[in-house]
Amino acid sequence: MNDIEFAPAGPEHGALLTLEHVTKAFPGKDGSVLEILHDTSLAIDRSELVAIVGPSGSGKSTLLSLLGTLDMPTSGILRYDGGDVNAMGERQRSVLRAARIGFVFQQFHLTATVSALENVMTGLQYTTLPRGERRQRAAEALEQVGLGNRLHHRPAQLSGGEQQRVAIARALAKRPDIIFADEPTGALDCETGHTIVDLLLTAADSGASLVMVTHDQTIAARFPRRLHIQDGLVTELDKPNQAPSDEGLSAKG
Ligand code: ADP
Ligand code: MG
Repeated sequence: MNDIEFAPAGPEHGALLTLEHVTKAFPGKDGSVLEILHDTSLAIDRSELVAIVGPSGSGKSTLLSLLGTLDMPTSGILRYDGGDVNAMGERQRSVLRAARIGFVFQQFHLTATVSALENVMTGLQYTTLPRGERRQRAAEALEQVGLGNRLHHRPAQLSGGEQQRVAIARALAKRPDIIFADEPTGALDCETGHTIVDLLLTAADSGASLVMVTHDQTIAARFPRRLHIQDGLVTELDKPNQAPSDEGLSAKG
């Protein structure tokens, strides 16, 4: 791949993202090594909607960070659009993320001192779009998440659900190939949380893949594909629209 330019993902065949025999280990105490993710292989297709579930501390965020190229595998290969991410430099990976990957986190991560509009424009600052176009796109994205009348509010003037909508607009504005959301409803009440999931699922309708970590089983059940992670093993929960249970596990990946 070119050093800075990434063509938008085309309709070509093949998965958007693949993990091939990936492991992830962190240094533990006393020089020990903690392997959080054992030999894992899986593919995420274009437009695919995937929930990741599992107990606290099981490695959900770790897996999401690997898929989102925020962190690198200890061993194994991560491919994005067929390209080996391990072979890219840090700068090239950050350009890839800035151009093509949207992130939404539990704690919104908005800049407190600037408006919703400027927060969303920040998500486009690494693009070559002129400022006027960035502003236009940001306003459209805020409109899309129902905040067309809140463009000039600062985060503190918005509810938690509205702040998360701004974060989603920031992800959407770049028209990403894929959106990663790590417990995006974790700081919200149940009803607001489901509204946020509605929004993400609808937004993904325009062609983006969506990978969401959640420990809310009613939210996970809304996804056609669910991955479960426990004890370093990622398994596929096959049956759609059922709460995850041990019987639903099948060894895969
Ligand atoms: P989850 O999101 O499922 O709650 P995480 O992926 O955050 O779990 O963490 C999985 C395990 O990996 C935890 O035991 C955590 O302490 C450990 N871990 C995560 N990141 C690091 C790190 N940078 N250094 C050391 N250990 C880490
Ligand atoms: Mg986590």
